[in-house]
Amino acid sequence: MKLLEGKNIIITGASRGIGHGIATAFAAQGANVAFTYSSSAGPAEALEKELTEKGVKAKAYQSDAASFEACQELVKQVLEDFEQIDVLVNNAGITKDNLLMRMGEDDFDKVIEVNLKSVFNMTKAVQRTMLKQRKGSIINMSSVVGVKGNAGQSNYAASKAGIIGFSKSMALELGSRNIRTNVVAPGFIETEMTEKLDEKTIAGWRDAIPLKRGGTPEDIANACIFLASDMSAYITGQVLQVDGGMLT
Ligand code: NAP
Repeated sequence: MKLLEGKNIIITGASRGIGHGIATAFAAQGANVAFTYSSSAGPAEALEKELTEKGVKAKAYQSDAASFEACQELVKQVLEDFEQIDVLVNNAGITKDNLLMRMGEDDFDKVIEVNLKSVFNMTKAVQRTMLKQRKGSIINMSSVVGVKGNAGQSNYAASKAGIIGFSKSMALELGSRNIRTNVVAPGFIETEMTEKLDEKTIAGWRDAIPLKRGGTPEDIANACIFLASDMSAYITGQVLQVDGGMLT
């Protein structure tokens, strides 16, 4: 049995990394996938083709998750193309790491806009549709860094902790309409985002993880399949750490 058969799903930031992994895994479970990217048009086009070949409906949209208007326009387009939205995965995210001493105002604002305000933008944009359907699952991508903090990532940690507060509030506001909101908090997942770190830092992260390896986009995607599917019908307002035991 395919767990997401016939469900229509929007994922932000699926041209690379974790979002790409989620889109691929969701399509394999029978979901139709609308996904966004910021500038990677080539990889986005390739993914659209790959998913379509799996027999599901798939479409890539260039859309800036940080822009309120762009998110409104995106959801309008997706509704025209897909008619219904069952699941929203707010995955798009960036880092601009620095110690507070060296962090510019722009670096703080940009990370908050792309990582946190995007979640507000997209939730606002799908809210009416999900309320009308009296059904929906929203999955927001936080990080273990949002739970624990991290030196050199105060902007990123603030954005990811903000996502948890926002999501718990949505679980309370929207629960009575059968709209569930949960958070996935990945640990160290090996993608382009983490490739920026130096080899010594990466080795240190791996060593500190009880399961002794970095995670893969598939590890995160599997948790998202569960939260998107009716298997998690009685779960809302939760933070699921997918981190190889890192914060244990
Ligand atoms: P990634 O490889 O850098 O990919 C980021 C994705 O987000 C790309 O598809 C990118 O599109 C898209 N994106 C960036 N800015 C955007 C914007 N303004 N509007 C729309 N899309 C935008 O990152 P990743 O490692 O897969 O991370 C995905 C999510 O997981 C992020 O929220 C991140 O914070 C979180 N996370 C990652 C890790 C980790 O270890 N990797 C750990 C914890 C949490 P383009 O390709 O067009 O630029």
